[in-house]
Amino acid sequence: MGKTLKKSEKELSLYENVKLQFNLAKKIIKLDTGISKILETTMNELVVNFPVKMDNGSLEIFTGYRVQHNNALGPFKGGLRFHPDVDIDEMRALATWMTWKSAIVQIPFGGAKGGIQIDPSKYSKTELERISRRFTFALGNNIGPEYDIPAPDVNTNAMIMGWILDTYISTITPNNRQHCFHIVTGKPIGLGGSLGRDKATGQGVVFLIEQWAKETNFDLSKATYMVQGFGNVGSWSAKLLKNHGSKLVAIEDMTGAIFNSNGIDPDELSKYVKKTGGVKGFKKSEPLNHDSFLRTRADIFIPAALEKQITKKTAHLLNVKLIAEGANGPTDLAGDKILEEKGIHLIPDVLCNSGGVIVSYFEWLQNKRSEAWDIEQVDEKLSKKIINGYKRVQEMAEKHKCNWRTAAYIVALSHLETVYKERGIFP
Ligand code: GLU
Repeated sequence: MGKTLKKSEKELSLYENVKLQFNLAKKIIKLDTGISKILETTMNELVVNFPVKMDNGSLEIFTGYRVQHNNALGPFKGGLRFHPDVDIDEMRALATWMTWKSAIVQIPFGGAKGGIQIDPSKYSKTELERISRRFTFALGNNIGPEYDIPAPDVNTNAMIMGWILDTYISTITPNNRQHCFHIVTGKPIGLGGSLGRDKATGQGVVFLIEQWAKETNFDLSKATYMVQGFGNVGSWSAKLLKNHGSKLVAIEDMTGAIFNSNGIDPDELSKYVKKTGGVKGFKKSEPLNHDSFLRTRADIFIPAALEKQITKKTAHLLNVKLIAEGANGPTDLAGDKILEEKGIHLIPDVLCNSGGVIVSYFEWLQNKRSEAWDIEQVDEKLSKKIINGYKRVQEMAEKHKCNWRTAAYIVALSHLETVYKERGIFP
């Protein structure tokens, strides 16, 4: 019989981890206790169960979520993910991180996250379309272009955003449809999507790595890097870093891990993954097991997969100088502590992957103004926003002599505290 674990030995849930991260920052800045109570609680939590007809005529019930953490800075904003691990705890954590992200890079959005607990690979395209549309219908006016704006996340993409847009505007009176295109971001370009949105999160990660390299006099043309996850964020980060002449030496996804000390070409790998569904078996590489992947000697590690990858069990294996968190929540509190002891610098998720929501903001603005910006304009504005976020976090880390995750929280919490003090609490 298994022993009952003591609280301290039990694995913390994702949201419990967020609360601990929050507490570290809140103590340092002596955050107002009332405001702290507001920010450590989600505002609205919606769970919807809805039926969908399958291709074979049978009926299945799906469970979808939308957690709205906070909207003090602007409309709720955050992605929708389709994954078997989606549950209320994960949604709470991810929604909270969205609030911090927008506060750090100073865009006028709050935080939300949603999703459906499914393995999308088990459904046909037509089934996925009906699931997405029925979920949108179930959310009803709990989302809206000036209220709560979804976007892509794990296993969702521009096509799915297109279906959501079409379903949502079909529920609006015809004379109002044309000014509702900003109901979702990350749309196909023809439907009002922004140039540069697809690569935005990876582009943001690379802008930050460039800034770190500039400040530490690190030559990116000689750098080696490893990436975990080869979805939107992992593949774009890998491809954009290649432009510097940096060498991708190891990569892991759900199918396995591969290694080549002479470098793996991310563009070739991308074509291979499109065909086969994963990195496993890529010809110009050798396979690695998970531990050996983590032990790979490289300069930069970009985790761009799921949460809780760098923990008490794995952090000590890492052999890198910089971790740029493309994923949300890849490192837990125990992992952070080990990385600090090892002297590995970390650019935390709430700053590092904010490129996605920053360009979502640009898309939203373009829709509202009936404009279409060129890619140079998008990239330049993204760079400015995210580098300013970097500088804010850096300044706080120096001021409070804390790690960058805590500093990023401090930036977000201080900004939100000011806003709440300015507007007061009703009534
Ligand atoms: N899903 C992305 C994230 O986690 C983007 C969210 C958005 O653009 O609203 O930041």
